[in-house]
Formats: sequence, structure tokens, C-alpha cells
Amino acid sequence: VPELPEVETIRACLEPKLVGRRIESVWVRQGSRLLRDTVGPAQLRRRLTGRGIEGLGRRGKYLILVLDTGEYFVVHLGMTGMFYTAAPDAPSPRHTHLRLKLADADLLLVDPRTFGRVFVLGEGELQAHPVFRRLGPEPLDRAFTVAYLADRLRGRRTPIKALLLGQQLAAGIGNIYADESCHAARILPRRAAGSLEAREIAALRRAVRGVLRRSIACQGTTIRDYQWDEGRSGGFAAKLKVYGRQGRPCRRCGGLIERNVLAGRSTFFCPGCQF
Ligand SMILES: [Zn+2]
Repeated sequence: VPELPEVETIRACLEPKLVGRRIESVWVRQGSRLLRDTVGPAQLRRRLTGRGIEGLGRRGKYLILVLDTGEYFVVHLGMTGMFYTAAPDAPSPRHTHLRLKLADADLLLVDPRTFGRVFVLGEGELQAHPVFRRLGPEPLDRAFTVAYLADRLRGRRTPIKALLLGQQLAAGIGNIYADESCHAARILPRRAAGSLEAREIAALRRAVRGVLRRSIACQGTTIRDYQWDEGRSGGFAAKLKVYGRQGRPCRRCGGLIERNVLAGRSTFFCPGCQF
């Protein structure tokens, strides 16, 4: 599942291929579930065809193509969504849902399990859209301060991991990076958020930012069937400290990593050095 570092990696990889190009034509798979939030393939085609791509941004786990009309084409890759570029005459691989013809190559969105979604927003509609209105600050932005975190955690009985996954505290953190951040901060994922002391809140902020930055530097994590852009893999999987490592020794204290289920998700932690 692509989380912030994976989506940021895809953004950086696609940016030079897309920005400055024009969308000459748009093919959409008949009945594609990727369009379940939008009004239909005809309107999607109408709003994209002929548009120039002026920028490629990211907010949380969403990729945002900025069009020369001021509109935004928003893509969430879901569980298994991937972008491919292909020569204009190359056939579309299986599970292709969207194919944008650009001047020199085509951009394909391939999604075997179709948990992804795409939609177009008008100029000025981005901040007000329900998806983006709910999103917390980017954890790598300046707004993600210790004071902000302390304010948002105060009095909360929700497990800290559930808050990290919720997207309202911070945008873009999913299961892998929530567990890795809690381990780096030496905090048990099940701890009530409001029970964190000031030094633990500061450690958590530092951990979240450090883990995300290190993963971006490795071009993200590849777990099982998720790969970014044309089947390339990120290198952070080799650096995971707890995620997917149950029964193996902690790289910090030698204790055995445990797994349980928290907030409906597999959760990995070290009982030896997380408190
Ligand atoms: Zn440990």
C-alpha cells in the first residue's frame, strides 16, 4: 500500500515525464471502479483532454496533477495502483483503467484490485473538498510541530497508532510508518495518545519525520505486490525495524518483535524497548 514516501517517490519520478506535456486524448476502461466518485468517463475525458500539465503535487497519499485550466486531476492509488509509461503504440497491460496520451509517451494507470480512485476538482475546490478538508498537516512541513502534536493529543484515550493512521493528525502515514515511528520513538502503539509525556511527544515527532525522510531517500518500501512506477522497488524494506518482523530480534535491544491487531490492523512492536 503506497504511503507518503511511496507516493512522494512516484511524484518525483513522474514529474519530469508529465510537467509541460499536454493530454492529447484520454481512454477510460468501460465501467472502471476508479471513477466511482466522479460523474463518469465522458466528463472525465472532457475535463482532461487538451489540457496542459503544469505541476505534479502530493497531499497525504494523493497525487495531484495541476492542469493549465486551474483544475486538479486527483489520483489515489489505493492498494495496488501503479503508473506506467508506454510508447504510443504499445498495448495496454491487463488491469489498465486509464490511459492518457501525451505527446511523446502514454501514461497508464494500472490497478488490479481497483481500490484506487480518480477525480477532477475545479479551481479553488481542492481545500474545500471533503477528502482534503479532513487531512491534517504534512508531517514533513513546518506546521507539524511539537506544540501542535501536544495540543492534538491532550486528553485523547485513542491509541496513538490509531491517531497516526487516521490522517487528521498528520497526512500520509499508513500502517508501515505508524509502526516504524512508534518503535523509533520507543512508544507502544497501543498507548493512549493523551498519556504521552512531553519528551515522548517530541520523540514521536522526530521519529515520524526521520522515518519518512529515510524512506523517501530509499524510494519507499515495497511489500508483496506493491511496486511503484513500472515495477521498480523501493529499498526501505531492508531497513524496517519492526514491520513484518514478528518473532525476530529487535535491532535495538535484541528482544523479540511481537505482532498483534490494533485498530483493525496488524501491529508490530518490541516489548523490550517500547513503553
Ligand atoms: Zn527492542
